[in-house]
Amino acid sequence: MQYLPLFVKLTDKPVLIVGGGSVALRKAGTLLSAGAKLTVVAPEFAAEFVQWQQGGQAELIKGYFEPALLDGKLLVIAATDHEDVNAAVYDAATARNMLVNTVDDQPKCGFIFPSIIDRSPILIAISSFGTAPVLARRLREKLEALLPQHLGPLAELVGRFRHKVKAKISGFAARRQFWEKVFDSDVVRDVQTNQLPQAEQRLLQLLDQPQQQAGEVYVVGAGPGDPELLTLKALQLMQQADVVVYDYLVSAQIMELVRRDAERICVGKKAGDHSVPQQDTNQLLIDLALAGKKVCRLKGGDPFIFGRGGEEIQALLPHKIAFQVVPGVTAAAGCAAYAGIPLTHRDHAQSVQFVTGHCRKDGTEPDWHSMSKANQTLVIYMGLMKAGHIQQQLLAAGRSGSVPVAIIENGTRPEQRIVSGTLAQLADLVEQQHISSPALLVIGEVVALQQDLHWFGQRPQAAVFGQTLTRME
Ligand code: SAH
Repeated sequence: MQYLPLFVKLTDKPVLIVGGGSVALRKAGTLLSAGAKLTVVAPEFAAEFVQWQQGGQAELIKGYFEPALLDGKLLVIAATDHEDVNAAVYDAATARNMLVNTVDDQPKCGFIFPSIIDRSPILIAISSFGTAPVLARRLREKLEALLPQHLGPLAELVGRFRHKVKAKISGFAARRQFWEKVFDSDVVRDVQTNQLPQAEQRLLQLLDQPQQQAGEVYVVGAGPGDPELLTLKALQLMQQADVVVYDYLVSAQIMELVRRDAERICVGKKAGDHSVPQQDTNQLLIDLALAGKKVCRLKGGDPFIFGRGGEEIQALLPHKIAFQVVPGVTAAAGCAAYAGIPLTHRDHAQSVQFVTGHCRKDGTEPDWHSMSKANQTLVIYMGLMKAGHIQQQLLAAGRSGSVPVAIIENGTRPEQRIVSGTLAQLADLVEQQHISSPALLVIGEVVALQQDLHWFGQRPQAAVFGQTLTRME
């Protein structure tokens, strides 16, 4: 972090502006709206400055900058057209350890003015610190459009009731739950339609109701890694939860979107390493929910596809714990899309099977014959360790050794890597290319389409592209 964003209370604080032209004027306007006490020094002043002086909002000093003017000031802004004057202001202020902003000269800025989205008392400040102003501006436009105007009055209303709520409801978690309830209620609609007395009355009614503390479990699919593949509902529940219980497949970028003060508990490590036994995870969810917590059980991909979401919910049932399930983009769908492999295609595959590469508990083999039919796509989760066995069994059951395969490592993430080849090469590819988890195996005629449909990340490393596709009749 090059700069630390801070919100500074400037009411009645002395600030010096050096310069009296249009640039200085802009900064002065912003500072005045924050209540600063302005002193402006310049040989000449734009008309607004004179008006501000007459209105008692600014003191004007006709003349040139000298270091003594910095005495007693909190901040200083160098806003002249003269580089040497700006440099003199910067040097003098820096020598006194004062924070200085030099307009349009970022290296000479101890602080900067961000773009502001003002829904007072809610404020959002954005800056790219001079590196990408257009990008920052676009972001600001997006946020402006996204944040409704009634946010300000809503936050004010909350501010007025804070003490009352604190007196009535003890405990931080219980108060947070109360406010969540308020924000999901018609109080928001009342504020939106400018019916503030009604909003207040409704809020008081909610406060009079008994505050029940029932816990709940949200079983949420987080998708394969790219945070933009999260559903809106997933994001909402990640923001509401008191506790997030997650495993290794949930990317760090996604974990950053979890509510800041939520507790985070990791229950899974990579295959082979230690991970919390399923039984213990089930018990953890039960204990947290029975303690009245809103628990977000965040899982990679989709919770109901090789995710044990079903088992965890079954464990909640005897305790009558409320739950919700939010689907996620499963690895097969996410990785295939980001690899440019349509899992079905009218010309090349009429069906797709998702299977696990893990052995069955009873040691029996899956139905390799059904998986070996031509013109169908096979997606294998957790198949890395068993790649040799899978290759062998599919070939033995009649799948052609020349059918294309793709191994997709870290699909949809910035570090996505795809290795392609044929079924006959599968085990060698996994070993020679040092593929690591998480990785997905895709086997089928459709894999060859990535040659044309590739769009995300590095081009696949491929032995298969020389091959031509044969159309199905
Ligand atoms: N519920 C998850 C799957 C969990 S099983 C889902 O719906 O996606 C774990 C396996 O999923 C991994 O071994 C790997 O085969 C696959 N996987 C998950 N995320 C992946 C990713 N980003 N890239 C490649 N494979 C992934």
